[in-house]
Amino acid sequence: MAVNTAPSTADPLDVQPSPLALLLLGREADAASERGVDCPGDLPSPSDPDLVARARAAKERLGERVFVLGHHYQRDEVIQFADVTGDSFKLARDAAARPDAEYIVFCGVHFMAESADILTTDDQRVILPDLAAGCSMADMATAEQVAEAWDVLTEAGVAERTVPVSYMNSSADIKAFTGRHGGTICTSSNAERALRWAFGQGEKVLFLPDQHLGRNTAVRDLGLSLEDCVLYNPHKPNGGLTAQQLRDAKMILWRGHCSVHGRFSLESVEDVRARVPGVNVLVHPECRHEVVAAADYVGSTEYIINTLDAAPAGSKWAIGTELNLVRRLANRYAAEGKEIVFLDRTVCFCSTMNRIDLPHLVWTLEALAEGRTVNRITVDPQTEKYAKLALEQMLALP
Ligand code: SF4
Repeated sequence: MAVNTAPSTADPLDVQPSPLALLLLGREADAASERGVDCPGDLPSPSDPDLVARARAAKERLGERVFVLGHHYQRDEVIQFADVTGDSFKLARDAAARPDAEYIVFCGVHFMAESADILTTDDQRVILPDLAAGCSMADMATAEQVAEAWDVLTEAGVAERTVPVSYMNSSADIKAFTGRHGGTICTSSNAERALRWAFGQGEKVLFLPDQHLGRNTAVRDLGLSLEDCVLYNPHKPNGGLTAQQLRDAKMILWRGHCSVHGRFSLESVEDVRARVPGVNVLVHPECRHEVVAAADYVGSTEYIINTLDAAPAGSKWAIGTELNLVRRLANRYAAEGKEIVFLDRTVCFCSTMNRIDLPHLVWTLEALAEGRTVNRITVDPQTEKYAKLALEQMLALP
């Protein structure tokens, strides 16, 4: 494969927007939106010069009654109003540690707000500033599809020996399915521990919904082979697998992926190594297996932040994760002489998370300050009960 070996003179973070990125960033209609719900009110204009002052004033009026959570992948204009930042699980726990806050404004995506609702008290209201902020990966596994898959596993005679392990990035329904069938939730930080625990409970794992995290953890951390893993495609009869394939497999991977991390390719790694001599390639385990195999370091968002924090001055890093976070890290560590570039040449925002912008945040905070609860996310009690079982199993992982 031909690679560009000329030294780069461009800003390494000056990546180019693709038409798809612009579409998903909400500047055009998004026909594939997984939620597609408009906010029931008049959003302030994005060009209103008073947006920052308005958000500040509304937040001050609410005082301790509101707690704003900002996911690492969120826009800077929103992050500046977050009381805490973190990954999805840390933020849900932060919310649970603030039982006095009447409103939890979750600047993330839908499944994260659901998890916060599960872990907070019934009196607390979890708010998602834009109901269209879903997660394409979470939407790749619906409750109906997963129930059907379990029937397929039952018919093949393997369901009894299979333990579901679901990534945090899944809907409350999928977490409840996992709890009902004796499984556990995992994050990208504890996926190895979750799989080791699951293989102590049964012979096989059904890993939902991110095939890449499941495969990477099984092969890299547990030493399984690629042949031990099969891919269950919910859009094909019987998942596209024979009963014998299901019986032979150790890992049954759901055919889901992250539309952000799935865009990094082996070519991205080869290209950046040619452009930036001596670069360390650090990627998230939601990336494809060949990308992870070609990288120098692999780990969760928290791992990425901690690794860059501990990196020596003068070191060079290409990061394979969401662009908002990479930009913030590049700015933060530039003063320490650490060169941080984005792994790909094109924009790689989490488009659904980017739906939450300053106009949505202002609209939400002003409504709450006026006593109107908008965009509340609730999980029904039965779903909550079983989803909580699976979350508690994760907290109890050895
Ligand atoms: S980065 Fe990927 S997994 Fe995370 S919220 Fe966005 S689409 Fe979902």
